[in-house]
Amino acid sequence: MTEKTAQQPPLNPESRTARTTWARTLAVAAVVVVVVWAAVLAGIVEPDGDSNKEPRFMPKINKTDEQWQAQLTPEQFEITRRQGTERAFTGKYWNHKEDGTYNCVCCGAPLFESDTKYDSGCGWPSFYASSNTDNLRTLDDHKYGMSRTEVRCNNCDAHLGHVFDDGPQPTGQRYCMNSAALTFEADANAGEPSDDDTKADP
Ligand SMILES: [Zn+2]
Repeated sequence: MTEKTAQQPPLNPESRTARTTWARTLAVAAVVVVVVWAAVLAGIVEPDGDSNKEPRFMPKINKTDEQWQAQLTPEQFEITRRQGTERAFTGKYWNHKEDGTYNCVCCGAPLFESDTKYDSGCGWPSFYASSNTDNLRTLDDHKYGMSRTEVRCNNCDAHLGHVFDDGPQPTGQRYCMNSAALTFEADANAGEPSDDDTKADP
């Protein structure tokens, strides 16, 4: 029971030296880790060297250009996937006045209700508020020498249009959207916006 056969043989001086060197390396590595971590916490070192840029956005719906092209018309593709803009007063919805919901043409996410649509005179469908701000994301857009705020679908990253601060009260905002980025769904029940996935039969 008290056999000592399992005992290890005594270390020779060489392996002892190796062990000491290894321990020293470990200690140095630990110090480096602690120092770098402290610097990260203090904000001196940026973990990925990229923290000034917006973190890469990963949409819930992620399709290839080929898949979007198969699903959309060329105009819809150009506007939503290539940040295009339809010509003013040419779109389907700039002068559209029915009651209902405007959804993302790419993924169907509900974005605007007709009761926030107003005639801005700009030739694009305009809304003073979104009914589902969670479905929208905004980005700084400095193209064409202008400083604008781009609006995209938060679900599929479709380009929708821009938002400006010259809208009417109560928000003072003007969501200036491309008709080609939207689909319209008329209200099934008057006054009852349907943002529900499980719709009852009519
Ligand atoms: Zn979408």
